[in-house]
Amino acid sequence: MLAELSAIWNKRPLIISGPCSAETPEQVLKTASDLAATGKIDLLRAGIWKPRTKPGLFEGIGEPGLKWLAEAKKQTGLPLTVEVATAQHVEAALKYGIDILWIGARTTVNPFSVQEIADALRGTNIPVLVKNPINPDLDLWGGAIERMQGAGLADIGMIHRGFSSYGNTEYRNAPMWHLPIEMQRRYPGMLMLCDPSHICGNRYLLQSVAQKSIDLNFGGLMIESHIDPDHAWSDAQQQITPQQLEKMLDILIWRVRSDPADATELALLRERIDQVDDELLSLLARRMKIADRIGAYKKENNFTILQTERWNEILERAGKKGEELNLSREFLVQYFDAVHMESIQHQNNVMNESGKKLNDI
Ligand code: PEP
Ligand code: MN
Repeated sequence: MLAELSAIWNKRPLIISGPCSAETPEQVLKTASDLAATGKIDLLRAGIWKPRTKPGLFEGIGEPGLKWLAEAKKQTGLPLTVEVATAQHVEAALKYGIDILWIGARTTVNPFSVQEIADALRGTNIPVLVKNPINPDLDLWGGAIERMQGAGLADIGMIHRGFSSYGNTEYRNAPMWHLPIEMQRRYPGMLMLCDPSHICGNRYLLQSVAQKSIDLNFGGLMIESHIDPDHAWSDAQQQITPQQLEKMLDILIWRVRSDPADATELALLRERIDQVDDELLSLLARRMKIADRIGAYKKENNFTILQTERWNEILERAGKKGEELNLSREFLVQYFDAVHMESIQHQNNVMNESGKKLNDI
């Protein structure tokens, strides 16, 4: 089924939408019929059991919500997807004819729960979408996929919903785009969807995150929608109406995926990137050799490794130069932080190696 659904992508990406949580029969049925009326939705989602970070919040309507979803499918023809976190959820979802299951971020982190779901699904061929774990651990994400495969399931996809971090950032969950890209490399051909709603945690960033994922060759989107987002029982700030979703989809620029005519050009450009990366690595190695010499000098003269004024001077200089070269300040700070840490490591090694002199390096 995922293969058929993702074949849709050849013409346009797969779009999953529906409320964060099923709340009432009216809310589920009206959201579903408004979504179906757009003609742009492939799958209806709703949370039935909600894993909430803190107790005391709405924890999902439970089984009655499945009945409403089954009715929504009858009325609109939209296939259904819900989140499952336990074997009982799986059993109930299958009983009500849910078409595709997904594993939430808070479940993917727990191999016991993932295994329980995998065991409950053994012998079925129901498609499963595995969200990334809340922490940026690709082995854990891959482990969940492999547990599903181990239970004989073949129809598996991934959903990128961003990663938790401490402190306020622009996003509710940082996208760290290189991680889902790495997962596409590790699991070639596996459907990768993006969930901009949980990445953003608000409405105003949704459009740009959705566009970014399309630009990065993702196979589709899962976006939360609600007939009255401000009064949603969960995730009120990030949900949009089905009509707003339709506008959003109209504005998105859909890219063509890997056109063979472009393939040679692309391969050539990649070749050039590899070349430049090799040069960058040699330059970095040269830089570290110099750091080694500085370490030896500081050791002989009994200087501290970290000298704050010097570090500020480097950042200041790189910031100015980077601006001229069209490199963002944010990137430069991250890059120099990483280079600086490696430099300190090198100097530290030299300073703590007995007997190494400046002229030995
Ligand atoms: C959800 O999709 O409503 C949900 C709980 O998402 P996540 O597991 O990504 O937090
Ligand atoms: Mn949600």
